[in-house]
Amino acid sequence: MDFAQTVDETGGLSEEVSESREKTLDLCTCPGCPTHLDGDWLVGYCFPTIGSSESISNEAGCICGNCPVYLENDLEHGYYCTRGSELEQSG
Ligand code: SF4
Ligand code: SF4
Repeated sequence: MDFAQTVDETGGLSEEVSESREKTLDLCTCPGCPTHLDGDWLVGYCFPTIGSSESISNEAGCICGNCPVYLENDLEHGYYCTRGSELEQSG
């Protein structure tokens, strides 16, 4: 699936999207980032159906560029937790 395009035609979570979301959550390196807050259980902010965190507002560095999800999907942005998903930032 393409992180910079759309979730799917219906706006719902197709099987492919669900699998991709789970993989993103498994591989996400956000918990090791200085910007991430320990209490924020949600990660994978780059993913189209996740997007920015409701808790994080202070940008203190972003390690997305070394994340396997970032590299595998040729993502181009960063600070997804504060600025929104790849799709939102590609707007
Ligand atoms: S690119 Fe960033 S937000 Fe996306 S999974 Fe990797 S560390 Fe998490
Ligand atoms: S999106 Fe970037 S800045 Fe935000 S927690 Fe993940 S690695 Fe850190």
